[in-house]
Amino acid sequence: MTAQIITIGDELLIGQTIDTNSAWIGAELTKTGFDVTRRISIHDLRDDIIDTLNEVSGRSDVILITGGLGPTSDDITKQTLCEFFETRFVTDYDVLEMIEGMMKRRGFPMNDNNRRQAEVPESCRVLKNATGTAPGMWFEKQGSIFISMPGVPYEMKYIMQEHVLPELNKRFSSRSIKLKNIMTYGAPEALLAELLTGFEASLPGEIKLAYLPSSGIIKLRLTAKGDKTNLPDEMLQQQVEKLYRTIPELIIAEDEENFETVIGKLLREKGLSVCTSESCTGGRIAHMLTSVPGSSAYYHGSVIAYDNKVKTSLLGVPQNVIDRYGAVSSETVALMAEGARKILQTDFSVATSGIAGPDGGTETKPVGTLWTAVSSASGTITQTYRFGTERSVNILRFSTASLHLLWKQISGL
Ligand code: AMP
Ligand code: MG
Repeated sequence: MTAQIITIGDELLIGQTIDTNSAWIGAELTKTGFDVTRRISIHDLRDDIIDTLNEVSGRSDVILITGGLGPTSDDITKQTLCEFFETRFVTDYDVLEMIEGMMKRRGFPMNDNNRRQAEVPESCRVLKNATGTAPGMWFEKQGSIFISMPGVPYEMKYIMQEHVLPELNKRFSSRSIKLKNIMTYGAPEALLAELLTGFEASLPGEIKLAYLPSSGIIKLRLTAKGDKTNLPDEMLQQQVEKLYRTIPELIIAEDEENFETVIGKLLREKGLSVCTSESCTGGRIAHMLTSVPGSSAYYHGSVIAYDNKVKTSLLGVPQNVIDRYGAVSSETVALMAEGARKILQTDFSVATSGIAGPDGGTETKPVGTLWTAVSSASGTITQTYRFGTERSVNILRFSTASLHLLWKQISGL
């Protein structure tokens, strides 16, 4: 069960539009049990479209195409498909009626361009589009299914969800692919791969392991391909249990994306609250925590103590502590966390102070140095880290490292 994705549009090749359609379709097809073997992006050019269709024809079960279905002359996918499938245009009166209704509601007159959108290749099955004027089209040739959809992401998603995925699920129900994501933190990719050498070698052939790193977090994705006879769910569960035995101290959560969602769940479960006081991260941690829907249940607020005056006047860090140990120090960051916890009245408090760069580093505290603290009723702990030299990367790494420390304290590890 293989699939290929073709995205059509000049804007994709000149970097004006990021091809999010392929990513979304790829994820959905994978869930349905397909192996997505190739993504191709091409110009709105007749020859390029025909060449590509010839190339993929008969080599995949399903070919998903987006783009080039607009009413303007730069969009030529429909007439090129009509030519490729050696058919002719006919008017689809249901589509015409839908377009007329849509134009009326929007208060625009119908013109020839609109009427042309209701013309479809005779040999295709029309996939109605309630979200726009261009319908989707379903063709079959040489054992392959070709599905053409508009480029506008929400229109494509509507057609996929309403027509394409249910139909593909029915037609290709025997195979399935199951995925399991395990979120890890604390070992860089190369070290993690070394720790998992034995685990990987003993994986059954139907299960694949992938490493997906992003800003310190590495997601391990286990993919099991199977059918009703070899039960991919059970195979996966066995491997997940083995992973827990192999790297117990590195696994943060299953099927979660990041610390903010994991922390949010924990705080909700325990009925506890948290606040932040951020120097070098400038509110990034607050932003991450509040990106989680429902975070108002446990997140109280933040003091962005970027200037030392804010650390002293608002958070109550004594000036002599900053003079003696520096703003980037265990002592300062601990007092920041304690000060914020007092003012904002929370169970937990996390604070950061560091040197994001590119300037401000010293021999003892180079760019990339972070001090972070977590304060709670059971005391305050601090930790230092050393990251790289790129400012934006540092700010993200600082934030993730601080959230990791916070997570450890909340979960009592
Ligand atoms: P079209 O169907 O070619 O008229 O596409 C309409 C609009 O959808 C384009 O102007 C893009 O903004 C957007 N679009 C087209 N293809 C993609 C794609 N692969 N990913 C994301 N957006 C797209
Ligand atoms: Mg276009």
